[in-house]
Amino acid sequence: GVRLRAVVGAADADARTAVDVEADAVVLATGAHDLALPVPGWTLPGVTTAGAAQALAKRDGVAIGRRTVVSGAGPFLLPVARSLALVGSEVVGVYEASGIPALAAGWLPRPWELAGKAGEFLDYAGALARRRIPYRTGRAVVRVLGEGRVEGVVVAALDAEWRPIAGTEREVDCDAVALGHGFTPRLEAALALGCAVRDDHRGRFVAVDDAQGTTVARVFAAGEVTGIAGADAALAER
Ligand SMILES: Cc1cc2nc3c(=O)[nH]c(=O)nc-3n(C[C@H](O)[C@H](O)[C@H](O)COP(=O)(O)OP(=O)(O)OC[C@H]3O[C@@H](n4cnc5c(N)ncnc54)[C@H](O)[C@@H]3O)c2cc1C
Repeated sequence: GVRLRAVVGAADADARTAVDVEADAVVLATGAHDLALPVPGWTLPGVTTAGAAQALAKRDGVAIGRRTVVSGAGPFLLPVARSLALVGSEVVGVYEASGIPALAAGWLPRPWELAGKAGEFLDYAGALARRRIPYRTGRAVVRVLGEGRVEGVVVAALDAEWRPIAGTEREVDCDAVALGHGFTPRLEAALALGCAVRDDHRGRFVAVDDAQGTTVARVFAAGEVTGIAGADAALAER
């Protein structure tokens, strides 16, 4: 079997207790957290990650602002914009850093993934279009403006390497900003147990075989820690 020493209790609480656990196998499902690239002004109150904006909107019904800008990269920006609109925030723009050629190049080598996700993408794109929320590619928030809190952003066109193109800057009035550039798996537990990780185009993930087995005997992994594919895929792997 496997022997583990675990600490049990609420995160950061004083009364956490250490327990020794013996089991036939261990399943690691430590998930991922969202990433945001910093820009000047990103520490102002009113700026959150896209994941935090999504969690507040979907779980608590709270909008991070009255006029919100969503900026970053990846398909996650679309459901975030929709959730913000559903809780009453005016989403003044969604800015996707990658241009159309880069977005297409990202999907084309994996048409099977696109087949699964295209319908979802179109649903979200339709939801944005119905609410007249502008979705712009090849653009990003390059600066957050405000004294003491968010009062606006500067948006610029980007080149293929995500460098702002001089002369394209434009100010957008808003009181909240959601920044999201994908997700990164929480690898600490897997690395502590000696599991091998693999690199793919989206980052480093725990390597698993067809039965979700890691490279360490009796240690399995499931969910986002093995690859970013959303909640449905994470549930299916359980
Ligand atoms: C902020 C945010 C918003 C999201 N919004 C959506 C959405 O709207 N729709 C959607 O389909 N998907 C969304 N996702 C993705 C979705 O949450 C994941 O696909 C799904 O939850 C992955 O399940 P999981 O079991 O792999 O990990 P999780 O559900 O993330 O669970 C991992 C758990 O492991 C714990 N953990 C991590 N490391 C350790 C450790 N070392 N020791 C002990 N415990 C540990 C964590 O505290 C957490 O409780 C969102 C993700 C994030 C981060």
